[in-house]
Amino acid sequence: MAPVSLSTKAFIISSIPMGESDLLVTFLTPEAGKLRAVAKGAKKSTKRFMNALEPFTQVSACLIRSRPSGLWRLDSATILHIYETISSDYQRFVYASLCMELTELWQREGVGDSDVFGLVNWYLSKISRGSCPVTCSLIFKIRLLKSVGLLPRLDVCSVCGKRPMGRLIAFDRITGEIICASCVGRKDSMNLCLGTARSIDFIGTSSLERVGRLKLTYSQSLEGWSYMKELHCRHLHKEPSSYKFIDVSKDLKGCGYDS
Ligand SMILES: [Zn+2]
Repeated sequence: MAPVSLSTKAFIISSIPMGESDLLVTFLTPEAGKLRAVAKGAKKSTKRFMNALEPFTQVSACLIRSRPSGLWRLDSATILHIYETISSDYQRFVYASLCMELTELWQREGVGDSDVFGLVNWYLSKISRGSCPVTCSLIFKIRLLKSVGLLPRLDVCSVCGKRPMGRLIAFDRITGEIICASCVGRKDSMNLCLGTARSIDFIGTSSLERVGRLKLTYSQSLEGWSYMKELHCRHLHKEPSSYKFIDVSKDLKGCGYDS
C-alpha cells in the first residue's frame, strides 16, 4: 500500500522523548482531531524541526503514514504562531498545561472536531494576551465537556424537571445534574449556588464571543472550578497531573478577584 500523507495546520499538544533521539508528538488538527507522530531525530537535534515541536505552538505540519493503523511520522513542521508569553509565565504555563492535558485525554485519534480546534485557538490567544488563566481555563473546561456531550443540563432540576428557584440548589455527585431545593435529599448530592449553575449553563450554550465578556464573581469562579474538576475527573476516571500545580483561590486573587 502506498504511504498516505497529510498536510495540515495543528497545535502541539505534547512532546515526549521516545528512545534516544526521537520525540513522540501529539498534534491537534481541525480535520483529523488528535494525531500522534514520531519526529525522527528531533530529540538529538533541535535544528531538525527548528523548535517547532514545543507545546503551545501552532504549526503547519506534513505527516506520513505507511499503514492505515500505523503511527504517523512527522516529515516537516513550520511554525505558524508561538504563544511565547505562556511558557515564560509560571501561572499561565500550568493552566495551559492542564487544558492541553485535558484536550489530549478527551480527544479521540483521527476524529476531527473543528469546534475544539477553535476552542484551543481561542484559549491560547486569550491567556497569552493576559486574560485571567483561571477564568479562561474554566470556560475551556466547560466547553470541552460540552463538545463531548457530557455537560449536564443546568437549567432544569433533574428530578422534577422544573426550573429551580432560590439561591441554593445541589448537584448529583455521579452525573453532575442539578437538583432543586425541593428535591434535595433524595440523592447523594453537594450544594451549588444557582448563580454558578446559571453561569456554567451560559458558558456552555453561548458563543465564545459572548462568553468572553462574562464576569464571574470570586465565589462563582471557585465553585464552578470545583464542580467542573469533579465532573471531568469522574468521567476520565483520573485526576490530570497538572492539577497538582494549581491553587485556584490564590490564582484568582492574583487575577484581581476579591474573596
Ligand atoms: Zn426538583
